[in-house]
Amino acid sequence: MTHVRNRHSFATQQVHAGAEPDPVTGARVTPVHLTAGFVFDDFEHARARFAGEDDGYVYTRIGNPTSAAVERRLAVLEGGTDAILVGTGQAAITVALLGILGAGDHLLAAADLYEGSRGLFLDNFGRLGIEVDFVEESADWERLVRPTTRAFFAESIANPKDTVLDLPAVAAVAHRHGVPLVVDNTFATPYLLRPLEHGADVVVHSASKFLAGHGAALGGAIVTGDGFDWSGFGHLTEPANVLAGVSWVQRYGPQRAYVEHTRGVVASRLGPTISPFNAFLVQQGLETLSLRVARQTQTAEQLARWLRARPEVVSVDHAALDDHPSHDVARRLLPRGAGAVFSVTLEGGRAAAQRFVDAVELFTRMTHVGDVRSLVIHPASTTHAHRTEPERLAAGIWPGLLRLSIGLEEPADLLADLEQALVASRAPHRSEQGAVA
Ligand SMILES: *Cc1c(COP(=O)(O)O)cnc(C)c1O
Repeated sequence: MTHVRNRHSFATQQVHAGAEPDPVTGARVTPVHLTAGFVFDDFEHARARFAGEDDGYVYTRIGNPTSAAVERRLAVLEGGTDAILVGTGQAAITVALLGILGAGDHLLAAADLYEGSRGLFLDNFGRLGIEVDFVEESADWERLVRPTTRAFFAESIANPKDTVLDLPAVAAVAHRHGVPLVVDNTFATPYLLRPLEHGADVVVHSASKFLAGHGAALGGAIVTGDGFDWSGFGHLTEPANVLAGVSWVQRYGPQRAYVEHTRGVVASRLGPTISPFNAFLVQQGLETLSLRVARQTQTAEQLARWLRARPEVVSVDHAALDDHPSHDVARRLLPRGAGAVFSVTLEGGRAAAQRFVDAVELFTRMTHVGDVRSLVIHPASTTHAHRTEPERLAAGIWPGLLRLSIGLEEPADLLADLEQALVASRAPHRSEQGAVA
């Protein structure tokens, strides 16, 4: 890959990696190449492009220079070798896994998952004949493996309980069975954790969250390294139509076969292309990633500790707190902090949560995370409302649980808003009830 600057530190890479001044105009910032297609000089040029004999652009669904600059930067930031940028995080997960799985295959996924991923596996993949099991206990990664298991999937930090994946341990089980570990790194971002360095084989992101950061655009990414040998996967070792009868492994080698097939056959055929304009917005966000995530994580930890000491609060789920079940894993894998999203459970249950949500003035009521603005949502009545009550309780989604995503506002202002909302969340006094009645 060109323009990789692996000798530089993260803060430098996030503003420079993958982007050069435009060779034609001298524009310093990667231009927004809003174009459907790219011109062929003549008959022979068109033939050579389609034959893959030169690596220029053909059509934006297959590749675009604005998106490609973001792909190069993300690959560097994740410590990977290749990246594919797509339109959303859901598209990234779909494309990454359909590059591995087919009918009759089995997926082993962590039980603590983004609801959109869970639904994708159960409803959409289920109809394609891909079976899924969800892992509750760490020992189940080994116990639930089947001969047909073709991938492991988990989130590095899973919300709303802030569960941190023991990456090296789960990767070891996956590799013992010859299957890749796919990790959704949305909540950690490569600033807090680079899963490829701890045994993951494929990383996926919702770039709509911290990577973009501004909450203005959706995006998704798939990043791969070169540590996994894909020659155990039939669709990559059998002769491929689009490669004139050569296999992906023969053409690109056992390490890069997966990403080339996923880009060339899965992403480009399913077509969840990111707009070059949104790719540009993701790029703008990436340039301040470390500054934002460091500050948001620091503020989140401060607020989590403050909330835990409040009388209205039963529990706070942030892995930086020493009573959190993932605290030891977080100390081992997340030296820069355990992220800016956590949950807080109110003593007064659903009624208190409702009063709290209605009382916030600075926090925004919204289903999103990793935004520069602080956000609050009540999962039991929104993101997890379609689950049964016993399912929610088994997942620790109590009636009084609220998810907070901490933004870049002044911590003292956020604290003041939380304080007044906590006061408002208390059960109304008798006299007030009387007054209302
Ligand atoms: C938001 C999110 C997704 C889905 O991303 P979209 O960009 O909204 O499609 C996937 N995984 C996690 C952990 C997320 O937070």
